[in-house]
Amino acid sequence: MIALKLLPRQCPVCRNETIIGHGRRLRQSHDDQHKRIWVRRGICRPCGKTFTALPDSLPDGAPKRRLDQLANRLTKILAETRKLNPTV
Ligand SMILES: [Zn+2]
Repeated sequence: MIALKLLPRQCPVCRNETIIGHGRRLRQSHDDQHKRIWVRRGICRPCGKTFTALPDSLPDGAPKRRLDQLANRLTKILAETRKLNPTV
């Protein structure tokens, strides 16, 4: 079961907090275990758009991208620091 708090209330389309629960469905995860997980579905009635809330444990790409950006920034800072002070 996925906590309701993981289902965003704000619709990315109309920016209103109009998303309500819309049931759940079984989804095959793409990790090497291929375990099946329940995902929550939400719907914005005014837009008629449906949304899916994934559990934190399922990598959806976004958190990984943020980590990569952070790593790149740290690498750059370290390179700059080394330029200024070669003993670091
Ligand atoms: Zn909407």
